[in-house]
Formats: sequence, structure tokens, C-alpha cells
Amino acid sequence: MKEIDIPYCLPLIGDEEISEVVGALKSNWLTMGPKTIEFEGLISEYTGAKHTIAVNSCTAALHLSLIAHGIGKGDEVITTPFTFAATGNTIVHTGARPVFVDIKKDTYNIDPDKILEAITSKTKAIMPVHYAGQPCDMKSIMEIADDYNLIVIEDAAHAIGAEYNGKKIGCFGDATCFSFYATKNMTTGEGGAITTDNDKMADKLRVLRLHGISKDAWKRYSNQGSWFYQIEECGWKYNMTDIQAAIGIHQIKKLDDFSKVRREYAHIYTNEFSQIDDLVIPYEKQDVKHVYHLYPLLLKNYTRTKFIEKMAEKKIGCSVHFIPLHLHPYYKNAFGFKEGDFPNTEWVYEREVSLPLYPMMKYDDIEFVIKAIKNILQHIDP
Ligand SMILES: *Cc1c(COP(=O)(O)O)cnc(C)c1O
Repeated sequence: MKEIDIPYCLPLIGDEEISEVVGALKSNWLTMGPKTIEFEGLISEYTGAKHTIAVNSCTAALHLSLIAHGIGKGDEVITTPFTFAATGNTIVHTGARPVFVDIKKDTYNIDPDKILEAITSKTKAIMPVHYAGQPCDMKSIMEIADDYNLIVIEDAAHAIGAEYNGKKIGCFGDATCFSFYATKNMTTGEGGAITTDNDKMADKLRVLRLHGISKDAWKRYSNQGSWFYQIEECGWKYNMTDIQAAIGIHQIKKLDDFSKVRREYAHIYTNEFSQIDDLVIPYEKQDVKHVYHLYPLLLKNYTRTKFIEKMAEKKIGCSVHFIPLHLHPYYKNAFGFKEGDFPNTEWVYEREVSLPLYPMMKYDDIEFVIKAIKNILQHIDP
């Protein structure tokens, strides 16, 4: 296998992040502390949400949000099968049943009409996923939630910086969960955060992320702290560390620049690919700011596996997002899902390939990818 010239993804870490991490290491305070608190403040300011609770992953953020809203055994949570393991698995971890509904064929986001059809007396929450960085139809989703008294927990792993009707993702649902995993639009290596406007929920989430012990327990080894603590609930060990937050403090300040580059490159791809019959380009809604965590291109006729192999021969990395949850062995066995259950999701999945798209890429790299794809589709192979 030849070495890849244009990997599928690369993070963009600057000197600011590096010196802040060194600062954290030299400060003698490695775990959750002042830098985590500073990072949370920056996320709140950026998203416009009242509270931010930083955790060690988006998976932890989703799990904690479900638990804090009392979701558990006997409950149903409606979400999309066109997502990563974390969305479905965290629902299962609470004891609730994941109820999948199909996506729309234009945005690849959850279809609000299908949410309505799936509501039962056991439905407690909706977990919309802002696929690829394009916000879901939040107006319809929030209306349904109001009508049926449902909790909305957003999986915004792809969508930090995205906007719906001019407002940032982070303050629509009851809780919004972000990911700072290495490949996401901004990173802390591993990490996540929950934003919420609800004061009581924020307090509960802060307690639950650290074993359920009293709110400022993280201070107990500092001179402001005390040795005394109480376990109020049986919580989890989900806190962020100051080493991670040190990276995040600078990433969040650069996020708008990152998003600008992602959008610009995505538009270059779209301009070029819209002229090729064999491709379906991603649809961008007018009432949103799409932050293109992914550039999902659909192949109408060309075999996807062959396409990815050809791209690898040209030293370009690609990926696929996502293998639908209902087609994985665990979900088939545990819940009886089968092929054909969600036709739109399967239709998109079978044709989808995610192209390299990240701020570390140069214009030349984008041109290189475009040329490679044109050659592959026209069978002009070197
Ligand atoms: C990456 C991702 C997650 C999980 O994020 P982690 O921070 O790795 O836990 C959840 N949902 C979606 C849609 C993702 O792509």
C-alpha cells in the first residue's frame, strides 16, 4: 500500500495550543480545574447557551444528558439510524429503547413527519443528529417536542458553529452535545461538552459528571477546597482535564476561521461536481449555516468500494458516514432491525463517500481531489 498524500482527515494544532498545554503541565493542575472552567465559559459565550458542562467525550455528553433527564428502562428515544455508534449506544446504556426513524433524502437529516409517526405513550425524548454539520429542521422538531412533552437532546458532534435561522446550535433543545474528537471541526484530542439554558439541569449534569459528588469537589485538592464531600447521586467519571481544555481554549477561538475554510472548500467541490451527472452533491439549505464537518458525495452508478480503492491508488483517503445503526449485528439481534427498514438511509449509505475536507488542506489539494475524481469517473486511469 502506497503512502497517502492527502489523508482523509488531519487536525490543525497551532503553537498557541502547544504552549497552553505546556502551561497546564507546568501549573501542577492536570485534571479538571481553571482551564476547564475557562473553556466552558468560552463555549457558552460562543454558542449563546447559558451553561456549558465539559466532559471527556460527546458519548459521555449524550449519556449524561439522557440520564439527567430521567430517561431509562421502559422509555423510548427517537433518533436516526444514519449516525455513529454513540447516538444509539448511549440510549441503550440507559435501559431505554432506541426507536429509529428514516432520514430525508435531501439533507440526510431526521424526517420530522416520521418522528410524528413513531411517537408512542413510551416516547420520552428525541435525539436529532445534525448530519455533516447541517442543522436539522429544529422548528418542526421543537414543535413536536412541545406538543408531546418530549425532551430534545441534540447530537451536535458535527455541528459546533453551525446556525439555524441565524442562531447558533447550542440553545435549541433541552441539551446539546458537542464532540471535540480529533477529527471533528475543533478538537481537544478527546473531549465533549453539553450546553443547556436550564440552571437546575446544569447543576445536575455537573454533579453527575464527577461520581455524583458535591458540585465543587474538583477543588478538594486545592487550597480553596476541603477534604469533605458527599455522594449525592451515583454518577460517572466523565470530567474533562485541564490538558484537554488547554487545547480547546485556542481551538474555539479559531473555529470561525476553520468553518470559513471548510465552507469555501465545500463550495468549490460542489461547483465542480454539480456539473457531473454521475454524482449527487450535498444539498445546503438556505436557512442554515452548514459547517461541513463532512463532504458526503453520492455516486449514482460507480461502485463505491471500487471508487475508494481508486482514490487510494491516487493517494487520497476517503471514508463512509455512516454504516446505518440498524444494519449492525448488535442492533439487528437486540431489536430485530433488518435491511429495508429505513430505505432513505440505506439508499444514501450505499452510495455515500466522504471526501477529505479540513482547514489543513490547501487549494492545490482540493484541485487534486477534484481532478482525481473526474479521471476515475471518466475511466482515465494512469
Ligand atoms: C463523533 C461522533 C459522536 C461521538 O463523539 P465522541 O466525542 O467521539 O464521543 C457522536 N455522534 C456523532 C454523530 C459523531 O460523529
